[in-house]
Amino acid sequence: MRIATYSLNDHRFVGQVTPDGLGVTAFALDDARLGALPLVERAAAGQPWPALTGPQVAIADVRLEAPLPHPRRNLWCVGRNYHAHARELRDTVFKNSAQGAGQWPIVFTKVPECVIGPGATVRLPGAAVSAQIDYEAELAVVIGRGGRNIARAEALGHVFGWTIVNDVTARDVQMRHQQWVLGKSFDTFCPMGPWLVSADELDATDTRVRCWVNDELRQDARTSDLIFDIPALIETLSRGITLYPGDVIATGTPAGVGMAMEPPRWLASGDTVRIEIDGIGTLVNRFE
Ligand code: ZN
Repeated sequence: MRIATYSLNDHRFVGQVTPDGLGVTAFALDDARLGALPLVERAAAGQPWPALTGPQVAIADVRLEAPLPHPRRNLWCVGRNYHAHARELRDTVFKNSAQGAGQWPIVFTKVPECVIGPGATVRLPGAAVSAQIDYEAELAVVIGRGGRNIARAEALGHVFGWTIVNDVTARDVQMRHQQWVLGKSFDTFCPMGPWLVSADELDATDTRVRCWVNDELRQDARTSDLIFDIPALIETLSRGITLYPGDVIATGTPAGVGMAMEPPRWLASGDTVRIEIDGIGTLVNRFE
């Protein structure tokens, strides 16, 4: 099932996308402010799924929003998690932080307020704040049933579904502060969407991730190239920390980021970034 958060006539709805992807029908929810989050929480609690209220409307007639427009807390993110991406960073400013990598994933967070939806504009902060803005196409895991110390073998049972995140990054700010959170959390720096795909509908452990900048293919990988796979990430993140329904884990980006190019190619006003993950959909955002 694909679950979309969308607005129509200035009202927000959460609905089920039709199999052909062209229509959507709203669920009967008291409050759609948090998008699909109440659905995820209901499912995690074993409560009944809400009914569809209809009528079906065309996707073309609604404005898609981030499926989780206001996550309850920071998004978990993983750094340098594709083999080919780790290789391309060996010659960048990250070459020193590569030492010691291998046994444990790099984990950082993005603040929830930076989430925006498909088609929304990413606002460049201005050169005085950062002139090194980069894209990162990523598969995102949405946790269903929460838990702590989740064993690897149980981990996929805690996944509600999947979506796409663009982990937009200010590289100079990311590096300057040692901790990455500031360079990862600028307003509008987390496009998410186009919807949630339930875990039963897609084997996201081996699917294709692609990213284009202005129709130029920059990233093209399969999630089977992850260094720390999805069960390993859930196991690691839940060590001593409770994961909650609706937690988002951005699993890391493939090779092909602008920073690793020679010379680096940063995003500029007017650029459009399109991310496609097979079995999920397409996330497009313009930068201004
Ligand atoms: Zn990332």
